[in-house]
This record gives sequence, structure tokens and C-alpha cells, in this order.
Amino acid sequence: MPKTELIGLSKEELTAQIARIGEKPFRAKQLWQWIYFRGETDFAKMSNLSKELRQKLAAEFTISRPKIAAEQISADKTRKWLFEFADGERIETVYIPEEDRGAVCLSTQVGCAVGCKFCHTGSQKISRNLTAGEIVSQFMATRDAYGEWPSPTNETRFLSNIVVMGMGEPLHNIDNVFKALKILSDGDGIAISKRKITLSTSGIAPAIPRVALELGCKLAISLHAPNNAKRSQIMPINNRYPIEEIMAACQEYQRLMNPGRYVTFEYLMLKDFNDSEDDARALTALMRQYKLGAKFNLIPFNPWPGCPYQPSSHNRVHAFSQILEAAGYEAPIRVARGQDILAACGQLKSKKN
Ligand code: SAH
Ligand code: SF4
Repeated sequence: MPKTELIGLSKEELTAQIARIGEKPFRAKQLWQWIYFRGETDFAKMSNLSKELRQKLAAEFTISRPKIAAEQISADKTRKWLFEFADGERIETVYIPEEDRGAVCLSTQVGCAVGCKFCHTGSQKISRNLTAGEIVSQFMATRDAYGEWPSPTNETRFLSNIVVMGMGEPLHNIDNVFKALKILSDGDGIAISKRKITLSTSGIAPAIPRVALELGCKLAISLHAPNNAKRSQIMPINNRYPIEEIMAACQEYQRLMNPGRYVTFEYLMLKDFNDSEDDARALTALMRQYKLGAKFNLIPFNPWPGCPYQPSSHNRVHAFSQILEAAGYEAPIRVARGQDILAACGQLKSKKN
């Protein structure tokens, strides 16, 4: 029988595995700590377990990391890994360092079925969902690279935040993504607080309230246009879940979360398509109509080989931001990171076709 992989099992599932080999539940707790607090991958080094138990565990289980197929570091220190899983499928994971912290950008699918016109990942057909273990292990492999084990308890971690903004639509793989984020935020292990986790979605409206109900992490919506006519041109998913449904779902998310939890709207600035002052005003009107506590994140378009769009000029982006801010919405212009290694938003892709 093949060995069972432990990364990605919930606490309950780990306890059941431990019971299966005839051990007591507290062993599962110890193992959880070794795996997720200490980052240990070798059963032989689990010093508070007897030699017999260590051998038994090694005979039954594995604690794996994905294979590193390639790794690149940008001039701005953004780092990108091409990870390969057991079946040969590959995805990319990015680490974006800030001065005293940093965010790991996790992928959730190999490719993406949403097919947004501006996105490199979307030009790669969906191959499969990632498992919870494959999502969790991206973070763990990234942390290995910075030697940040055992999990630091203070606020000065290198890997302090998680953004679910890599390859794939997370709400198309909701069970595995939620399971992975619960493991990553568990206080007995890696313990990234839910306030430091942001899930970004293209707007799978019926699943949005579940982010509040089942997870409680931050929510970002890839809006990218102020009305359905424009949005449908660049995001075919808008025909299925139009803006009204997304806004209603965001209202519900906000109602379910603690008061004060903003929804971030990501807005990609595409030259002469959605970057006019009228577009900015339409956007503020939309937010007022739904009375949402909203913030914007204006994203410069990151080009990729063969892409059909151009980035807006700096002046346009600046004017757009000012209109949103004058209406009372935060609207910072995101600084593109890791562009030289195709690690910026929307540039990830793992196949050549
Ligand atoms: N599928 C999810 C999460 C991954 S994409 C989503 O779409 O929200 C993360 C962000 O990058 C999204 O806001 C996406 O719209 C944006 N993005 C996609 N292509 C981009 C590009 N070429 N330049 C800049 N941002 C892009
Ligand atoms: Fe998929 Fe997000 Fe890219 Fe759209 S922007 S194709 S949803 S990864």
C-alpha cells in the first residue's frame, strides 16, 4: 500500500490516521506540532517520540514538499518558484518581500477555467485543481527557503501574509482552498492569522458569503470594470455572475463579518478601455448604490508575451485614483513587483502552449 501523505490532512483526519495505526489522539497533536510548527519532514528527528513510533510513522506516512523545478529572484527581491507535484503538474508560487514582512502568493489550480482576457494564467487551459496538501505545501516550501521554522510567534515574520492570488480561481476549488487556509491559520502550527490572509476571486457570487461563514479571511474582488458591458468583454465569467450579483454577495460577506471589514476591489488599469474619468465616477456611483465599505487597489497592467492590452499611463492612473479618493475611498496604486521574472499579478503560467 502506498504511504499516506500527511500534509493537507485536517486535524480530525490526522487523528483518524493515528488511530488507524493504533496510537492515541495526543500523538496526532505532537505530530501536528512537528509538521506545522517546527516544519520537520523527517520522522527520525521527532525527538519526543519513541524510536519504535518514529519507525512506525516512517513506514506508514510521508511529509512532503513539492519538487522545485525552477526558481528565480527579481531585481526587487521578489522570488518565484516553479513547483512540480507527484503527477508532474507544475504551478508557480511567489514571495513578495516588504521591509519587515512579506506575502506569499499561493496558486490554487493548474491553469484557470475563467479565461480572463488580460491574464496569462487564463490563457493556459485548466488542467486540474490543487489538493489542500499541494496548497499548504507551497507555503511550507517557501518558508523552508527562508529557514523560518519553528513558526515565529512575533509579528516580525518574513512570511507574514498570505494572498490567494496566484494561478487559478480559488472559489472554483473551494473545499481544498478552505481546508488549506484553515491548516495555515491554525494556532498550533503555522498560525498566519485570518486577518493576514486575503482571498481574491473573479466573482463566483454564490460562493462569496462562504468566505465569511467558513473562513473569515479578507476578501478581494477582481472587478476591473464599472459596468457589465465592459466587464463581460474582458471577463467572460461576468455573463454568469454579473456585477449586481457580486455586489449583493459582497454585502452579505460584509454583514457576516465583523463590522469594519472592508472588501477590496481590484481594478486593473487598461489603456483606453476602463481608465477614463467617467469610468472612475461610474465606479464610485456603483459603490454608493450598494453602500459597501470598500477599498480599491489600482493594479497597473502587467504585460506578458502575446497579451492584447496596454497599461494605462501614469497620469491616467493617478487621475483615476484621485477621483476615487475624493469620493472617500482608499485607492492606492499598486507597485508591480517581480515583473522582470514574470512574477507579477496575472503573469504566472506553467506551460508553454
Ligand atoms: N483568480 C483570482 C486570483 C488570481 S489573479 C482572481 O482573478 O481574482 C490575482 C489578480 O491579478 C486578480 O485581480 C487578477 O485580475 C489580476 N491580474 C490578472 N492578469 C493581470 C495582469 N496581466 N496584470 C495585472 N494584474 C492581473
Ligand atoms: Fe483565472 Fe484570476 Fe486569471 Fe481570471 S484573473 S483567468 S480568474 S487566474
